[in-house]
Amino acid sequence: MSAARVDAGAVAMSMRIYTHLACLAHDTGPGHAERPQRLSAVIEALEQHFDDLDWHEAPRATRGQLLRAHHESLLASVLETRPAERIMLDPDTVLSPASAEAALRAAGAAIAATDAVLGGQVKRAFCAVRPPGHHATIDVAMGFCLFNSIAVAAAHALEEYALERVAIIDFDVHHGNGTQAIFATDPRVLYVSSHQMPLYPGTGTVDERGVGNIVNAPLPPGAGSRQFQQAWTGKLLPALDAFRPQLLLISAGFDAHWRDPLAQLQLATEDYTWITRELSAIADRHAHGRIISMLEGGYDLDALRECSVAHVGGLRC
Ligand SMILES: [Zn+2]
Repeated sequence: MSAARVDAGAVAMSMRIYTHLACLAHDTGPGHAERPQRLSAVIEALEQHFDDLDWHEAPRATRGQLLRAHHESLLASVLETRPAERIMLDPDTVLSPASAEAALRAAGAAIAATDAVLGGQVKRAFCAVRPPGHHATIDVAMGFCLFNSIAVAAAHALEEYALERVAIIDFDVHHGNGTQAIFATDPRVLYVSSHQMPLYPGTGTVDERGVGNIVNAPLPPGAGSRQFQQAWTGKLLPALDAFRPQLLLISAGFDAHWRDPLAQLQLATEDYTWITRELSAIADRHAHGRIISMLEGGYDLDALRECSVAHVGGLRC
């Protein structure tokens, strides 16, 4: 799939997409917002809009890779429950017979993307996977999330590649409580997030600062493009620049879009182009351009199509 396209003179930057069919088989049941059609929409939109993406099948994450971010008890509940039919882990979070495999592939995509980017094979990668991950804490699956794939990627970069500064950027409309909790005492990781407040899961105040490595920018319902861009320009992007990350990991949720049914932040598709270009510039300044982005939330299919194309297009620049 990829070997022929190594010409450094190519107009667009080579970019990898990691996904797996198993991620479509995670069955959340009728009427659930986090449904397989979300991922189908993203994959189809990327296939239709770009003809030069380098598609790769995600491997499974290993137990050792997952245990860098999670307790054994969470691995047991996701991997060893083996339900015969759908069960609810909490009022939002479903474990179906195929969910363990999907969660392993989603986290495995994050690992493989990290290896490809830090191994120098490619500068940017996007993981088109589900279930999402940023609400999963060290030991609790919650908020549609089973394993915290982006945390697994960050831990892999720190332990396997001995990086000293990894930034996790979260523009999903919900606060990434799990990611924040996992790294709240680890100064090697900077977590920056814009999110709607009040909204699920209720965390993400400006007072939550970890060991100085957490920067939250809560936004009120109806904030729109201007307040969103002000939060990033005035607070979050300068924090990233000051941190000088060696790698950028993006929790790319598209549920702050005005079409989204679960939140009211009222962003436009162009805001995702804007933030992606700003983050790409920071990666180019500090991190040799290295970015791995993971699909998180986003519950309107048209918004998912538009925003994933805008985001991947911005990453390729
Ligand atoms: Zn979300």
